[in-house]
Amino acid sequence: MKQLYTKQYIAQQVARLGIEIDRDYHNKEILMIVVLKGAMMFAADLAREIDRPLSMDFIQVSSYGGQTASSGEITFKKDIETDIYGKDILIVEDIIDTGLTLQILKQHLLKRKPASLKTCTLIDKQKHRCVPIESDYCGITMDDGFIVGYGLDYDELYRNLDAIYTFDPTQQLAQGDA
Ligand code: 5GP
Repeated sequence: MKQLYTKQYIAQQVARLGIEIDRDYHNKEILMIVVLKGAMMFAADLAREIDRPLSMDFIQVSSYGGQTASSGEITFKKDIETDIYGKDILIVEDIIDTGLTLQILKQHLLKRKPASLKTCTLIDKQKHRCVPIESDYCGITMDDGFIVGYGLDYDELYRNLDAIYTFDPTQQLAQGDA
């Protein structure tokens, strides 16, 4: 595993995003919809960088499982519990890659008529984008490669690493070696 983004670099980007969101949501209350499980660490840190009234709900869609490439099929595992009609929604996602997950999530939530719907993603991977979608807020832009750490998993492992690493499953090490 090779470290790609340090804990300090990630924290700087999260703080910057908090400032941008604070500024844009002036006078508004935010309902953060966190996409489980990958965005949990990011959302927890981001929420604490936002100095506005804020509530949180959670949604879960299918993940890569033991794969490192998107299956292209998105299934809902858990829906939100809040009525979002007339509310200002910020979807918090770990990674936008092909863009399919974010597109389907947006369509799903827009049917419930929120006052506004924006997206904030920690990582924007541009190479495999197959739908014309961009995130309103983005922490880090990268080109390609599979990554783990800071909430991101490979087969449910490595989420607890505090930095982000490139990961090659053919050279998998014990977590203590990271
Ligand atoms: P998309 O639908 O945009 O292709 O994929 C988005 C989802 O795929 C992300 O929410 C994330 O769960 C997963 N994903 C994409 N790239 C990576 C990666 O490099 N590492 C991990 N752990 N998950 C990824």
